[in-house]
Amino acid sequence: MKSLASNKDPPGHSGSRKDAINIMHSTTNGFTPEIIKGYEKVLDRFPGEHKRKSKTDADVICPVHDDHSPSLGVDLRQNGAGPQVVLNCRSQGCEYSEILHAVGLTDTDLRLQEKNGRAYGCTLEAYAASKNLPLKFLTSDDVALEDGTCYVRALGREVPAVEIPYADQSGEQVATRYRISSGGDDKFRWERGSSTILYGLHKLEEAHDAGYILLVEGESDTHTAWYRGFPAIGVPGVDNWKGEWAEHLNGIPKIFVVVEPDEAGKKLWRSLVPCRTLDGRLRKVVI
Ligand SMILES: [Zn+2]
Repeated sequence: MKSLASNKDPPGHSGSRKDAINIMHSTTNGFTPEIIKGYEKVLDRFPGEHKRKSKTDADVICPVHDDHSPSLGVDLRQNGAGPQVVLNCRSQGCEYSEILHAVGLTDTDLRLQEKNGRAYGCTLEAYAASKNLPLKFLTSDDVALEDGTCYVRALGREVPAVEIPYADQSGEQVATRYRISSGGDDKFRWERGSSTILYGLHKLEEAHDAGYILLVEGESDTHTAWYRGFPAIGVPGVDNWKGEWAEHLNGIPKIFVVVEPDEAGKKLWRSLVPCRTLDGRLRKVVI
């Protein structure tokens, strides 16, 4: 009989784990040179002996307790908000605030950001908080947001990102958009190969039942509308409206276009008005 066991373990596999760890420690774990420099500046604030374990990990003398061999871990880590220096007194568990105070640093000093000040990275928790929407709703079957990561070319690394599935009318996921930042102008990335579609096609039936739909800009306004019980569909960016999308709204008597009183809002309205199939059904709602 033929064996289907594949050669999962290439030669040398058993010994390669340690090598992999060593390689990891000699690299910068995806942090930019600028961030590493910021980390070193923080390290410099701690007097006495430093035991440098890697580019992103060091043990220093704890400035709070009577420390004689470096027992305070000062490590560079990536969290939801971006690169952050993490402190951990392994010997006495000294208070974070006391350690900071002893070396004249603040909490903000430990949050390192790229020079352009743009804080990339967005977690589901941060997104929920910023939109004032419950996590339970955002992760429900209908919305199905997830925590993920997304590569940001400008940084040369992956950042935490909220994965937003785009479904077709039957509920099948056909595209994914990532929210890579809670604020700023650079907030989204499409998954490679995703084609731009309207957000929330799987909920169109609710609009048919209701006899109306809210047409909003972006996923977050769509989420807010859904949460409040309104049938809604989202245009992923005011520059992205495609004439052929109007067909999706066939048979819905009233289309309330929710626009903000700004250039983006005007733009969305202007792109919808020429759509013949929407004629007579559009109502502008300025918020
Ligand atoms: Zn200590």
